[in-house]
Amino acid sequence: MSSIFKKILDGEIPCHRVYEDDHVLAFLDVAPLSRGHTLVIPKQVASSLHELTEESGAALGSALVKVSNAIVKATGATDYNILQNNGKIAGQAVFHVHFHIIPKYDEGDGLGLIWNSSTVSDGEILAKEIQQAL
Ligand code: 5GP
Repeated sequence: MSSIFKKILDGEIPCHRVYEDDHVLAFLDVAPLSRGHTLVIPKQVASSLHELTEESGAALGSALVKVSNAIVKATGATDYNILQNNGKIAGQAVFHVHFHIIPKYDEGDGLGLIWNSSTVSDGEILAKEIQQAL
């Protein structure tokens, strides 16, 4: 089934577009956490980040720098969070890859964070397992 962001990409649903290139579209979030909250999405249809081609990933990285820079200039907010949710448990609601750029004007606005830190007991093994999966 087509996601709401695919419909935006296809022009079936309107958006406030801020940036577009061959691989990426960026537009304002419809329910912003703060003024300037922007979504940056690949044109490639994929639900999670790890499913993207490296070409899409590289284009997204480049667009994130460009659009963040423009948001800082346009809003005056020098602080901001980049958020990218993959999967329902991780808080993803729209199942088309997207990065949030969320300006932070004050401690109380924008993205709220709860950082559940723990410790790593098997760091050497775990790092090797991830390296071997690359
Ligand atoms: P997620 O929780 O999946 O990371 O975030 C989805 C985001 O998409 C939310 O911030 C939500 O406000 C935004 N969103 C959902 N539907 C639309 C829409 O139709 N247009 C726009 N511009 N944003 C949307």
